[in-house]
Amino acid sequence: MIQLRCIKCNKKYPPEKRIYTCQCSGVLEVEIDLGEVSIDKDRLRRRKFGVWRYRELLPINKESKIITLGEGGTPLYKAETLGRKIGVKNLYIKNEGANPTGSFKDRGMTIGVTKALEFGATIVGCASTGNTSASLAAYAAKAQIKCLVLLPSGKIALGKLAQAILHGAKVIGIKGNFDTALKLVREASEELNIYLLNSINPWRLEGQKTEAFEIADQLDFQPPDRVVLPVGNCGNISAIWKGFKELKIVGLIDSLPIMTGIQAKGASPVVKAFKQGREDITPVEKPETIASAIRIGAPVNALKALRALKESGGIAESVSDDEILNAQKMIACLEGIGVEPASASSIAGLIKLLEAGEIDRDERIVCITTGHALKDPEIIFKEYERPIEIEPRLDKLKEVIKW
Ligand SMILES: *Cc1c(COP(=O)(O)O)cnc(C)c1O
Ligand SMILES: [Zn+2]
Repeated sequence: MIQLRCIKCNKKYPPEKRIYTCQCSGVLEVEIDLGEVSIDKDRLRRRKFGVWRYRELLPINKESKIITLGEGGTPLYKAETLGRKIGVKNLYIKNEGANPTGSFKDRGMTIGVTKALEFGATIVGCASTGNTSASLAAYAAKAQIKCLVLLPSGKIALGKLAQAILHGAKVIGIKGNFDTALKLVREASEELNIYLLNSINPWRLEGQKTEAFEIADQLDFQPPDRVVLPVGNCGNISAIWKGFKELKIVGLIDSLPIMTGIQAKGASPVVKAFKQGREDITPVEKPETIASAIRIGAPVNALKALRALKESGGIAESVSDDEILNAQKMIACLEGIGVEPASASSIAGLIKLLEAGEIDRDERIVCITTGHALKDPEIIFKEYERPIEIEPRLDKLKEVIKW
């Protein structure tokens, strides 16, 4: 049995109801009766690696037309060189940039757009700092339905904007930040019959929880001690925590990792609330950071995230833009993994917490890198020297190569 439950007042709703939030305005969570689920490692292992490998734990009707681009199944790298450099023996990187559109959002959209079709929707929409729109545009194209995207104008990383345009979404810039755009698309979804696929949509997070399933699966169901990830609208940290809890309930793992959420200094309402021991956040009016994917002042899933941190005995920390850029370079040059700035904040946060003695160097740690480097090429040209140009002659070439 599946139902929706408000995380604030516990009111329950049937899954057929096309709603995003409770009457009390609390966000909803999908509850699957795990007592009915039978799943075992051998059966899983015979299936293709990816989101749909875990279909018993996903809330989709058997008869549904599943919209998929082969999302999930991303690599988990043992980061030997980076680990040595920062003094962690067992450091892993789960690289979500390897998804079809280059971010973990695809895991949510395969469920979200499949759900949209179940509801009979012909238009889907979102507000986005970039990756949600890139992903939704692609999945809407696959499903052959219309897609509306509202973006904070002038604030979108070039690669993400290019993707939304390429996949044929109606892309509109909003004078304002992400939070303003989200407010408008929520209004629009009611008036214009648009199915909303921001992370306020509880179904989307059901896809994202497969990050937890895959991490456990790739570590032979010996979950890590800790998972470190960037936090923006708070959907992903909530989804991953839910995923680990469900794996434990169905008996596939015995322990749960400590969740560690990293925000950028200029957009860190969750870190502030966490450190002050508050249950909910105070929104940041003008969020600022180069890490555009986490430039969010009023995260909709903050309550879920704060609970995930608390339940797991976790930590929340913020990092500066310089720390983020430094970490981006380290992952790129020590591990060969190119990530966008938001993603690098997980490594930046880990370094900071190790130095502060808040994380034990003997832990088995998984950092999630959420999006691909090509999402934001401009930041690279801004931070790094462009190649010099020479005449096509060997002597000139020898002159300029100084290893
Ligand atoms: C969406 C996104 C995030 C933030 O995830 P939330 O679920 O909003 O907390 C972080 N990094 C990248 C690359 C993203 O696309
Ligand atoms: Zn409620």
